Amino acid sequence: MAKRDYYEILGVSRNADDAELKKAFRTLARRNHPDKNPDDPTAEDRFKEIQEAYAVLSNPQQRQNYDMFGHDSPGGNPFGSGGFQGVNISMDDIFSGGFDSVFSQFFGGGGSSSSRRSFRGNDVLIRHSISMDMAMVGGETELEVKSLVACDECDGRAAATPDGVRTCDTCSGQGQVTQNRKIGPFIQQMVTDCPDCGGTGRKITDPCKACKGEGRERKKQTIKFTIPAGISDGIRLRMAERGEPIRGGGGRAGDLYIQVNILEHEWYERDGSDLLMAMPVGYSELILGTSVTLPHIDGKDITIDVPASSTPGDTLEVKGRGFPHRRGRGRGNVTVLLKLFVPEKLSKNVKKQIEDLRSEIGIAPDSMADMVRNEAKNRRRTR
Ligand SMILES: [Zn+2]
Ligand SMILES: [Zn+2]
Repeated sequence: MAKRDYYEILGVSRNADDAELKKAFRTLARRNHPDKNPDDPTAEDRFKEIQEAYAVLSNPQQRQNYDMFGHDSPGGNPFGSGGFQGVNISMDDIFSGGFDSVFSQFFGGGGSSSSRRSFRGNDVLIRHSISMDMAMVGGETELEVKSLVACDECDGRAAATPDGVRTCDTCSGQGQVTQNRKIGPFIQQMVTDCPDCGGTGRKITDPCKACKGEGRERKKQTIKFTIPAGISDGIRLRMAERGEPIRGGGGRAGDLYIQVNILEHEWYERDGSDLLMAMPVGYSELILGTSVTLPHIDGKDITIDVPASSTPGDTLEVKGRGFPHRRGRGRGNVTVLLKLFVPEKLSKNVKKQIEDLRSEIGIAPDSMADMVRNEAKNRRRTR
């Protein structure tokens, strides 16, 4: 079954503010709480669905991510590999608003105690350039990078054998120790990395020879990832736990961020979901009209119809062939600015024909002042 849209679940608009979200959540949670629906086995699923939607949308970072990518967040499920598990919220919590502190603890934001060390390696940022075509249609891509990965020989354990890893006695595996320091009449408690294990919480008794007990090695690796269609320039895609492993093994690797840089296109410029382009057209095409077919970055040809009696500076709009809109459906437009193409060199023959043309439709220098005057008059009238 396809996952429902979070906004739809809560029955709010995409622009809903925090107060609206909270109100919608409260109403729905009250109505669908399993305690209130003891005879309805589907209530629990609905209650969980509402919770998940609220957990994501009430977190600014997660909401932005969701607006951008929907349920296919490039970093994987924001709740981890197991997905959303539901939380235990009582009817009291719902009435009192106490549920907010429950939700604020998701995604590692706020509320967590700072003394508990998170055994996590460094995050890594890689910049990656893609063509505008790729940004438009998205798809699978890959890049090669030399970075720290878990040691192949010991599987990132750092010890040659599984028995070679022991929990550090000094910090009981916490990686940190609390020290009391006396400053005048005060006793200050300080939390520092455990001096015995260097903060890993582990002691290696028989270090792996390949990585010298580091548990990691620098290696060339190929990273495959998906570019979402319509991606904006500078967006960072997150790949959970694909960053650096911790020195000494254990814990979990940091995250890998791929910052996507969109290369300039030969003739298109991007403006949000619209594309802009200047198209040189010859004088005869401007007068008689023409139809130009070009390869487009969405993979299909695009046809631009230049109507007869066009003038340089006119813009034409091809609807629905721009980038996908960031929110909601549909695509932007392609705006084509007409420019007059003037050839640098003319053959004698062409020159002769243009001279003939001048006597037909050209403007004599003495009538030009009149035309300038009329043009100005027309402009004033239409204003
Ligand atoms: Zn090793
Ligand atoms: Zn220790």
